[in-house]
Amino acid sequence: MLVPMKEILEKAREQKYGVIAPNVINEDTARACIEAAVELDAPLILDFGFVFHKDIVYLGRIIEYLANQVSVPIALNLDHGATFEQAVWAIRAGFTSIMVDRSTAPLEQNIRETKEIVKMAHAVNVSVEAELGHVGEGKMYGDSVKGLYTDVEEAQSFVTKTGIDCLAVAVGTAHGQYNGLPHLNFELLNELNQKLLIPLVLHGGSGTGDANLVKAIKCGITKINIATDLFTAAIDEGNQLGESYMIYHRLQKGFKDRLIYYMKLAGQAGKAGKASN
Ligand SMILES: [Zn+2]
Repeated sequence: MLVPMKEILEKAREQKYGVIAPNVINEDTARACIEAAVELDAPLILDFGFVFHKDIVYLGRIIEYLANQVSVPIALNLDHGATFEQAVWAIRAGFTSIMVDRSTAPLEQNIRETKEIVKMAHAVNVSVEAELGHVGEGKMYGDSVKGLYTDVEEAQSFVTKTGIDCLAVAVGTAHGQYNGLPHLNFELLNELNQKLLIPLVLHGGSGTGDANLVKAIKCGITKINIATDLFTAAIDEGNQLGESYMIYHRLQKGFKDRLIYYMKLAGQAGKAGKASN
């Protein structure tokens, strides 16, 4: 059942588990994710972005249809929404959450533009994720990451001024693959969690390492975005010998098995029930 992302994340924050947000790119990946959620009786967040498919309304309709066939709560989030127009299209396509990524813009502009989208989205019960600090690319990973960390005081004022539902924080992860394991600033994460009191989002979950992910959840992360590791697992499975016409099934299986692994790690299995459960 398609639900606002806020519902899933607030319950996760309260009960201290994480919810994996895989990037879906088409019907196959969406089906793999929804099957995984049903098998684990778990809530799930699907991240979908314009970068993967230009026809967001078409994909939105498919995912809405698939999600409403099952009883587990599923949220559909626009990943890294870049413009006001994209946010409007996502709402029209049935998304239940929008990420407003203005993390490279000056703070005042980030606040102004995020607030504008919050006003529109909340009017129709759509949740909003924003980003403060900046989560960069794994291949550029190095000391420069520290200069992009989320600032606690800035974040407090940002959350109050914009009214967002959850915040993507920069605490040492990056998008894509790393060389080795990243260093996460758990002290900063703890402080953000204690002072902001809203669900926090970790972008760049792939390659972060199981122990780091579990600790990040303990320190207040509730949504973990994962893409690269799932697609790598799909390719590995697809490379296994077999009938060529089974290729899409194998890709789907690789993607789904790896997702199930991460969902179990995050602790969301069996958490599909209402907030009181
Ligand atoms: Zn991201």
